[in-house]
Amino acid sequence: MFRDFVINAGMLIAFLSMCYQIFGSTGLNHKLPMQLKFKAGFIFGIMGIILVEFSVKITNNLIIDLRILPILIASIYGGFIPGIFSSLIIAVFRLLRFGFSEAAIFASISILLLPVLTYPLFRKQKPLHKKWIYGLLLSEAFVSIAYAIFITDPMYRVLIIFLFCSVSSLVAFALYHYVGYLEAYTFAFIRYKQEANRDFLTGLNNVRQFDAVYNNVIGAAEISQKKISLFFLDIDFFKKVNDTYGHKEGDNVLRTLGDILRQNCREMDIISRNGGEEFSVILPDCEYTLAADIAERLRSMVQDTPFLLSDGTKINITISIGIASYPDKVSDLNVLKEKADEALYTAKRSGRNRVVSIE
Ligand code: GH3
Ligand code: MG
Ligand code: MG
Repeated sequence: MFRDFVINAGMLIAFLSMCYQIFGSTGLNHKLPMQLKFKAGFIFGIMGIILVEFSVKITNNLIIDLRILPILIASIYGGFIPGIFSSLIIAVFRLLRFGFSEAAIFASISILLLPVLTYPLFRKQKPLHKKWIYGLLLSEAFVSIAYAIFITDPMYRVLIIFLFCSVSSLVAFALYHYVGYLEAYTFAFIRYKQEANRDFLTGLNNVRQFDAVYNNVIGAAEISQKKISLFFLDIDFFKKVNDTYGHKEGDNVLRTLGDILRQNCREMDIISRNGGEEFSVILPDCEYTLAADIAERLRSMVQDTPFLLSDGTKINITISIGIASYPDKVSDLNVLKEKADEALYTAKRSGRNRVVSIE
């Protein structure tokens, strides 16, 4: 019997790991969209069914298993819908699989009641460990009542109740910690994934993300033969800003420039900090004349905006922009980047604070 419980606990742990892989970046939480809530309920329902299948048979119509635990996890972490949906699946399966005996009907009603009765308890935003304790006590009470009713031998009854309560508490304790670990791991993964693509200073895309998006957008433009423009943009004499006011103030200027770019590009444009004081904007579906207008707006906006330093000093900076537009100015998509770079170089060489397009 003990061996069976260890197998049940092992299955629960393996299933939970799979669950967190399925829910991946979102994890299991109360704010999941409705469709995912049902999906979670279904997954935990299946988990419960497997546990019922691997149950330990006590008498002809009485089994002992850990099916309450997936329902508890679904209710605690996913909310009412995953909880009730998983318990409905398990209850229906239990009745179809083992017949409509009194014990089976009692068991099915009690697991349907579990998410209903825990709902007001869990809603009150109790700390997680308290939700586990209350939920577990309630489920163990239900199951113990069932054993008290359906096991006639008093000694055997006490033994089974004791065994069930201690095993389910022990496994619940392990699961509580394991889900905690999975949650922490999921959130850390989400954060690292976001940070891997973001420039920490400006919050814009970093060069890695720029490369990925650029390749996608170029691929899509090639297939659909849509227009596309690209800016490379560089702050003029930025070294002087650092030398005069310090690196930290230079960082503030970079941040403010990031904000100006965000506010003055179109919603669909992809803005990145490609490194140092060099930025880029990918403008999908944008012909040359519109791109030139946007670039000029950016240039004049930067020129006219006082950049605020920490001590209240306001300074002015300028930027140079190189534009490449396909197919208006550049006929080969494969050299779009090189052409934008070349245009920026020309803008620098011809005096800075200007927008240049390669012809
Ligand atoms: P140009 O008009 O030719 O572009 O002149 P510039 O001074 O802007 O160009 P240069 O390449 O000589 O200098 C770029 C400077 O940008 C040098 C470097 O200290 C500074 N820089 C690069 N990354 C950062 C950063 O993350 N923060 C700060 N504050 N400065 C940076
Ligand atoms: Mg520069
Ligand atoms: Mg530079």
